[in-house]
Amino acid sequence: MSLSRETGEMSETLKRNRYLEDADRRYIWHPFTQMKEWQQEPPVIISEGKGSFLKDIYGRWYIDGVSSLWVNVHGHRKREIDEAIKAQLDRIAHCTLLGLANVPSIELAEKLVSITPDRLTRVFYSDNGSTSVEVALKMAFQYWRHTGVEGRNAFVCLNNAYHGDTIGAVSVGGIDIFHEAFRPLLFKTYRVPSPYCYRCELGQSYPECGLGCLEALEEVLKRHSSEIAALIIEPMVQGAGGMIVFPPGYLKGVRELTSRYEVLMIADEVAVGFGRTGKMFACEHEEVVPDFLCLSKGITGGYLPLAATITTDEVYGAFLGEFKELKTFFHGHSYTGNPLACAAALASLELFEKEKTLEQVKSKAEILRRWLLEIKELEHVGDARGIGLIGGVELVKDKSTKEPYPFEEKIGYQVCFRARDKGLLIRPLGNVIVIMPPLAISEDNLRDMLQIIRESIEEVTLNR
Ligand SMILES: *Cc1c(COP(=O)(O)O)cnc(C)c1O
Repeated sequence: MSLSRETGEMSETLKRNRYLEDADRRYIWHPFTQMKEWQQEPPVIISEGKGSFLKDIYGRWYIDGVSSLWVNVHGHRKREIDEAIKAQLDRIAHCTLLGLANVPSIELAEKLVSITPDRLTRVFYSDNGSTSVEVALKMAFQYWRHTGVEGRNAFVCLNNAYHGDTIGAVSVGGIDIFHEAFRPLLFKTYRVPSPYCYRCELGQSYPECGLGCLEALEEVLKRHSSEIAALIIEPMVQGAGGMIVFPPGYLKGVRELTSRYEVLMIADEVAVGFGRTGKMFACEHEEVVPDFLCLSKGITGGYLPLAATITTDEVYGAFLGEFKELKTFFHGHSYTGNPLACAAALASLELFEKEKTLEQVKSKAEILRRWLLEIKELEHVGDARGIGLIGGVELVKDKSTKEPYPFEEKIGYQVCFRARDKGLLIRPLGNVIVIMPPLAISEDNLRDMLQIIRESIEEVTLNR
């Protein structure tokens, strides 16, 4: 091949790349993104993935350190999932679940019921985490109506909670910078303290506190349980709130209190489900059985949008009645139970068994756990916390006073941009650096990722 032809091809690629960068900025409104800033730099455009890596249009490879926003499990282009989707595509891509049934959604529902806690027996499908939460909220609300109980119109949620971006999910959200703007549109909730030990809202410290945050919850339940339909919680870790890991006993305490005061419990495992915390479901850490389990993100291994809200016979039973009684659950989405997504989910769950994914997470979780202990020593690391393959490193301006970096300094983004130059894609949550690699990441790649994060934190916070 002559040199001139090669350079000719190069410039064609370059032209195409420039066109894509321009067109992205011209046509796309990116989620959770200040678009004014986005316009100022060329976007990283991903064209390919393989295993735990992503490739951009210039051929640069990066570690996918956020699992493509917490969804990827077995890596990209995983043969078994690719093949399951292709095989399903040869049969049918989509048909409705309204008035019809389809094969993969039945098989997946049976599988989900078999792997989730015993009392959870009924699967309602939707397509994303937010809708799985909407479904649970509406079912919980209507459950009381159908059982003849009046007045249970409110929900309990936690400060720092994140349950999605639709209006119902925002109503039970507790992150003011995301949620406060919509306050006039939101329904009534009781917000209780977040079990965020590093910055305890009650000014106490674990374990001497004896879980004072549970007492605060009990106060609310004692006073208001007759107005409360359900409590919603992210089990073991508040994700988007900053990877806040619960102190032992908190989750179990929440279940005991909700049972005692007869309030339904919604476990939003959209982020933590499917092995992320080292157990298949985070509720298993404290042997908690919720009344609703919301699943999405990792359900398809990170391939296709799908969600499930799984509930008990008791809740399901309350919706049974004569047609004219209007006890039907009037809710559903166009793509509910999508066969391609269900086929991907089935293939992903088979991989969990075949590759012993949960077993394999153990050694990697241990690497992360030890690294978190070490990183805590750095001058500007206030707290470093984790469970399973989730980690959060909270950067502070002053370690002794826990004074945060000012919001506008965007310290988290600075660290993540630095990491990007070193071949790692991650996203911060405010001043918290998030560690969320695919569960299947190799130990070597995980170590590389952690080393890059350490260097990036040092360089940015120490102005190297
Ligand atoms: C991501 C997330 C959601 C929302 O899921 P989407 O698919 O983004 O709508 C809900 N709850 C939790 C805990 C999440 O992390």
